Amino acid sequence: MTILAYTTTPIEEIPVIRDNLRRAFKTGKSKSIAYRKQQLRALRDLITENIPRIREALAADLHRPAFDADFLEINPLLTEVKLAYDRVAKWAKPEKPAWSFNWFAMKPTIRKEPKGVVLVMSPFNYPLLLTFSPLAGAIAAGNASVMKPSELAPACSALFAELVPKYLDTEMYSIVNGAIPETTKILELQWDHIFFTGGARVARIVLAAAAKHLTPVTTELGGKSPAFIDPKCDLKITTKRLLWGKVVNAGQTCMAPDYVLVPKDFVDTFVNACVDTLKEFFPDGAEKSDSFARIVTPSHFARVKGLLDGTQGKIVFGGSTDADARFIEPTLVVGVKSDDSLIELFGPILPIIAVDSLDEAIEVVNSQDHPLALYIFSKDSAYKAKVLDNTQSGTVAANETMIHYGAEGLPFGGTGPSGSGYATGKYTFDAFTHLRCTIDNPGWVDLILGGRYPPYTVRLEPEKKLRNLSRLFPAIPRNSAAPTR
Ligand code: NAD
Repeated sequence: MTILAYTTTPIEEIPVIRDNLRRAFKTGKSKSIAYRKQQLRALRDLITENIPRIREALAADLHRPAFDADFLEINPLLTEVKLAYDRVAKWAKPEKPAWSFNWFAMKPTIRKEPKGVVLVMSPFNYPLLLTFSPLAGAIAAGNASVMKPSELAPACSALFAELVPKYLDTEMYSIVNGAIPETTKILELQWDHIFFTGGARVARIVLAAAAKHLTPVTTELGGKSPAFIDPKCDLKITTKRLLWGKVVNAGQTCMAPDYVLVPKDFVDTFVNACVDTLKEFFPDGAEKSDSFARIVTPSHFARVKGLLDGTQGKIVFGGSTDADARFIEPTLVVGVKSDDSLIELFGPILPIIAVDSLDEAIEVVNSQDHPLALYIFSKDSAYKAKVLDNTQSGTVAANETMIHYGAEGLPFGGTGPSGSGYATGKYTFDAFTHLRCTIDNPGWVDLILGGRYPPYTVRLEPEKKLRNLSRLFPAIPRNSAAPTR
């Protein structure tokens, strides 16, 4: 097997690709459920018939262990595709709103319609999952789509450019490869929805470009995801799950725990438990381990190393780096303050903030942007409830990290600066679907609604009927007391 050379799409071809997709979409062929299922089956085959090549490309780009390739990308993607395949007919079925005396005669209906030609932009860190999971939703919803994977994962992006035309309908789905110039061209064009997964800096560029065309955008971004550590946790399980979330993919995960909040008098116990766990994960050190990834590019390596060099905290474990191998050792740093360079880093470094109380920990979190994920390690339901009730975040996991992304039926998404809109399963389908409301009003309804036509003075009787009709429905009662929580 060989890694394919990465080539960018010629800029002048990009508008032609979009126009061709628009023409194909207008034929209406993507609307039939049979077509959507056929393309979802083809997407499944694209993955299952190329697993060794996908693993190889992920290893080339990210030094990704094969187990992680399967566990974090290939398997969750196959689950997403299967779910969309199994449920597409149900999801796409027109819905009736709740029965209403006023409206039932007009047959009010919600049609689930594709938005049109959509754009999926994906990041480097989970290139397969974050390119094709949105695509599964776009196909299920009946759209045509351009996918723009990251130039920072060139082996994967090149593989996608080869496989997509081999398996999927080339009139409807297309990969465009490239960096800033190509993406700038893409963003000049009008799309019917943009599904962007990436960082806040680029999200601002995407949103500004989308605003010119009034294009709706889903933004799946990152954030400073905290972990609350209650001494009343199962410490062994806590450090295993927390540090797995921190070191997997060398910390390059949008919802990796960014920093932990630990009571002052528990820091030493917590650090010792973390050290034991890291030694269990990497008995001969992470550098020699087949189970540890690398930082994606030299410039990202330099950025993470710069953050580590700039910390005001003290390294108590790890800290070694190798620029040539883009290796950063899993590292624990104590004495970190909430404004430290390390608070949002996208690397395998765990900053530990010591706090006097749970209230102080909550204050630290609330002084930052709303995180994408928030983690609580505790066996105490009152502790968990207090954190949940007094913070905001895109998602929450108690006594776990990250795997809630795959929990079937749960929406995944940020809030505020960590993103807007939702992903996975039906939520991705919904992002690409327009809810088109329809009514069909028979003539006899004018026996009741005829009073709306001018001149208003001559037919008082229907107007009176309308007034009487509205009285059928009870008024909202007055407040008797101020609401309490
Ligand atoms: P990024 O924002 O740099 O890149 C995302 C996409 O934008 C890529 O396709 C890239 O080619 C394109 N891009 C880059 N610069 C651009 C520019 N100037 N103009 C137009 N397009 C441009 O993200 P990344 O570094 O590849 O990925 C890491 C980021 O993604 C992190 O911030 C992480 O938190 C976030 N992320 C979020 C999720 C989620 O589901 N919420 C998942 C994974 C990653």
